[in-house]
Amino acid sequence: MTDGARAATLTGQPPREAETHCPYCALQCGMVLRDTDDGRIEVQPRQFPTNRGGLCQKGWTAADLLDHPDRLTTPLVRDPSGTLRPASWVAALDRIVDGLRTVQRAHGRDAVAVFGGGGLTNEKAYALGKFARVALRTRHIDYNGRWCMSSAAAAGLRAFGVDRGLPFPLTDLGRTDTLLLVGANPAETMPPLMRHVTDQRARGGRLIVVDPRLTATARQADLHLQPLPGTDLAVANALLHIALTEGLIDREYVAARTEGFDAVRRTVAEYWPAEVERLSGVPVADLEATARALGTAGSAMILTARGAEQHAKGVDTVSAYVNLALALGLPGRPHSGYGCLTGQGNGQGGREHGQKSDQLPGYRKIDDPAARAHVAGVWGVDPAELPGPGVPAYQLLDSLGTPDGPRALLVFGSNPVVSAPRAARVESRLRGLDLLVVADFLRSETAELADVVLPVAQWAEEDGTMTNLEGRVLRRRALRRPPPGVRTDLAVLADLAARLDAPDPVPAGPDAGPAVPAGGPVPGDSPGRFPTDPRVVFAELRRASAGGVADYAGVSWERIESADGVFWPCPDPDGPDSPRLFADTFPTPTGRARFHAVRHRPAAEPVCADYPLHFTTGRVLAQYQSGTQTRRVDALRRAAPHGFVELHPDLAARLGVGDGDEVRVASRRGELRAPARLSPTIRPDTVFAPFHWPGAARANSVTNDALDPVSGMPEFKICAVRVERA
Ligand code: SF4
Repeated sequence: MTDGARAATLTGQPPREAETHCPYCALQCGMVLRDTDDGRIEVQPRQFPTNRGGLCQKGWTAADLLDHPDRLTTPLVRDPSGTLRPASWVAALDRIVDGLRTVQRAHGRDAVAVFGGGGLTNEKAYALGKFARVALRTRHIDYNGRWCMSSAAAAGLRAFGVDRGLPFPLTDLGRTDTLLLVGANPAETMPPLMRHVTDQRARGGRLIVVDPRLTATARQADLHLQPLPGTDLAVANALLHIALTEGLIDREYVAARTEGFDAVRRTVAEYWPAEVERLSGVPVADLEATARALGTAGSAMILTARGAEQHAKGVDTVSAYVNLALALGLPGRPHSGYGCLTGQGNGQGGREHGQKSDQLPGYRKIDDPAARAHVAGVWGVDPAELPGPGVPAYQLLDSLGTPDGPRALLVFGSNPVVSAPRAARVESRLRGLDLLVVADFLRSETAELADVVLPVAQWAEEDGTMTNLEGRVLRRRALRRPPPGVRTDLAVLADLAARLDAPDPVPAGPDAGPAVPAGGPVPGDSPGRFPTDPRVVFAELRRASAGGVADYAGVSWERIESADGVFWPCPDPDGPDSPRLFADTFPTPTGRARFHAVRHRPAAEPVCADYPLHFTTGRVLAQYQSGTQTRRVDALRRAAPHGFVELHPDLAARLGVGDGDEVRVASRRGELRAPARLSPTIRPDTVFAPFHWPGAARANSVTNDALDPVSGMPEFKICAVRVERA
């Protein structure tokens, strides 16, 4: 912390500058915010191990939304004519509590649901899970992290016994000899990460990218494998097949540190490279070159991202790459291993502390009696009172307003009208609710449908912690207080819990920290079971996570501040944290990593005469997620003003479409319209659209809601469409 920020904190005044992190993606780039004398807030990058002084356009412009004219500063309540009108906090909260009580009285506790987000701080994610289970006593809570990397999480858990995106610091990338990126495009999604890749290349390392598009990342690669969307699993099995036939397997490692290899060996024997070339379009020579580059390197890493994960077979696809990494003896070796590049800002921490339908804090399973007893003890309730598991995000949204589904929904930090698959259907489900409540700082497309909208604080107005893609717990620091009329999410949950007559306060532990935050009391503060001070919430989170897989018991805000963050698991305040996992053992019952034999299967929706093209979605550099924030930033809007449909010039010629012509992309579920962007970098049998825009250009009007049977991840990355000039 700088002297100015420290002095301001000690005097209780809002600081004039704050060392914090970007509000957007999981790289969580380090930045400094400064109040300037002319009333602006200046953003400067700072040296941090992940971004090393870099920021992308989104980070540079992150403060533009703090005083944006669209900022919500008063609650909105829908009147009988159907119009959202400004209302007092008392009126808004009364309306919510009346609505929740009415629904639960008529239909039971599970008739209310909660939907969270991967951008919420650890404290908010934890409080939201506790609020659902203790104040509402509903089993229905899930979050938009299901859209993001739940398949990699499930594959990591079943192989390694733990789900931490990267089990090593990002700086290890710069020192690996061969780096294989599968369905990852960090040059556009998190550009400062490429500094590590540049280091790696400068040291003579090889970069290989697997992606159906020649992306900005693939352009920098030594070798680009361009498979048909949905065939990544077959490619991985072929790579392992080649590694076996060419004697590249680390047999000693496999024998000493893993189990289940025989079944995988038998399975991949069927994946003859020539057949996989026919299936995926990746030439045998490229498959062989990739297997050799991985299998003969002194160190090697395999990283997956959404391209591999967002499929109805996403867990198995990731498992195929984990199998390859294990067979080559990579996990736990220096500058080597398997990892997943998490997307959302707190995608990692957001899935560790109770927002998931089947989870309690510390990555505990909600159906584990010991886990229930531990967390219920921290929460001061009877374990028998805790609800059981709910259902994953899409199943939850798709059940809203149906005879057996919830009839009221509270949304925090998410915009499913744009981000959910088969979005038109989700939108109609939301319209069918008895009560929809949205807490946000802007009128998102989901907020536009709400009965009550609650204005909440932004990132520069609140303290807390985030856990980045490396499993490193970071401090988010407030530069200033929320504007008049705006409350923090924690204050909203505390108010609602009090009005719902949630049980009495739990005494704070000895390490709970000050009762009042350094910046003064938060408007609406209430010292109840749901504290509003994030430092108090974090102290409780530590106790709740103690002994769990994601153990934060030894992490304190002071410890985070004294170093560049703290890597979990960190069970002991005086013991070490865990920047690198798996050096000696895996946290499985046997201490060994587990192979899983997996087979390719076709996309849930194959192409046909009526829908002859593959459709895939993704992101662009200047926009983020559903675009609620970045579409309102002038510089970002100028850089990426609207949606588009990318298609190969040969395909465009066949369809009679010119560059810039408006095209219609139709699937069995809906259609999108946007200008065509011709590019030779995409396969001629595939079209691509970014998913940041609502309305006619909404890519998720088209996407498929087929789900992975293990993770509940929707198949965003492939469905069948037809394209025509609009
Ligand atoms: S890469 Fe991610 S964290 Fe870094 S500035 Fe850009 S959006 Fe923010």
